[in-house]
Amino acid sequence: MSIEAKTAILEHLGRQQQAMVALLAELVNIDSGSYNKRGVDAVGERLRAWVEAAGISCEMFPHERFGECMAARLLAAGGGNRPIVLMGHRDTVFPDGTAAERPFRIVGNQAFGPGVADMKSGLVMNTFVLEAFRRFGAPCPLTGLYTSDEEIASPSSRPVIETEAKDARAVFNAEPGRPSGNLVSRRKGAAFIEFEVTGQAAHSGAAHAQGISAIEALARKVQRLHRLTDYDLGTTVNVGLVEGGTAVNTVAARATAAIDVRFPTLNIMEEILGEVREICRCCELPGSEGRILREGSFLPLEQDEKSRELLDLYSRSAAGLGFQVSGEATGGSADSGFTAALGTPTLCGTGPVGGNAHRDDEWCRIDTIVPRAQALALTILQVAASR
Ligand SMILES: [Zn+2]
Repeated sequence: MSIEAKTAILEHLGRQQQAMVALLAELVNIDSGSYNKRGVDAVGERLRAWVEAAGISCEMFPHERFGECMAARLLAAGGGNRPIVLMGHRDTVFPDGTAAERPFRIVGNQAFGPGVADMKSGLVMNTFVLEAFRRFGAPCPLTGLYTSDEEIASPSSRPVIETEAKDARAVFNAEPGRPSGNLVSRRKGAAFIEFEVTGQAAHSGAAHAQGISAIEALARKVQRLHRLTDYDLGTTVNVGLVEGGTAVNTVAARATAAIDVRFPTLNIMEEILGEVREICRCCELPGSEGRILREGSFLPLEQDEKSRELLDLYSRSAAGLGFQVSGEATGGSADSGFTAALGTPTLCGTGPVGGNAHRDDEWCRIDTIVPRAQALALTILQVAASR
């Protein structure tokens, strides 16, 4: 690509902050919790209208239960067939009504509102970068992938992500940039497991000995599960929800719990999940039974050589624009783990800088939206030229 075209893209993006913030406000003000299909689809419709108005075609991936994934496809005259994927999720962790309760607002240089950083600002940034390349010519095919259920481990989006990323030159996942400004080069993997323990109900006064307490069995399991935590190794186990019993004077016949397991590598994943499943299913208390009800997982984002090179390219692009970034690790998981596990060079945390994700005081730094879009555009040009 010519220097003139490159300059034109950077200058064009440089003029878009107001338009970016306006689109961000619209997206934040639509509730889109992961289980709110209508809301997640409404965010998709808004983005689709915007992208199509810019002259980019969209492919939808219908789904009955969760929001539809959307792929915006920008073709290129040259540069081969392998695309670069700009990825982001439209769902948030917030319940319906949150947007009405605390709508998008700006205080100084920060924007607030549900999902403003995680990751509606990233979606806006990706969308404007696509539009800029549509306007001035893409150096290779670009795919804007807008997924629908990341916050619950992407049960419906994962196959779409894997298909789109399989042959890609690179994946840029626009999760929020760290408060330090850094990108994310490593993420832990995560698994979420719900399980049930059953025992035998009995009157706790008249027939205590005939009961088998599901709560007691569950309590024993919780202790064993939490003992699997190993901070040195980077594995943690947290039973975050428990429920059980029907009355104070009844031996509990049933109890359930939900576990969050985190691990740094694929190898450790196999091992720790094996142990966790074994504890869920085994019977410490004679007569009780354990059963896994549901399981979902994110793969860890491990940094291989190709992803390191991608981070280098991005850092140099950012430096050329006047800001410094490097990579850092986080315990949070994301869709980037799926694409990295395919062997596709992956960079995560390319979105505008933000923090306090999943909290009421979640924030996004408005003055980072344009520079991060420009750094992404420059990096796309580099990747297209080098692979
Ligand atoms: Zn996110």
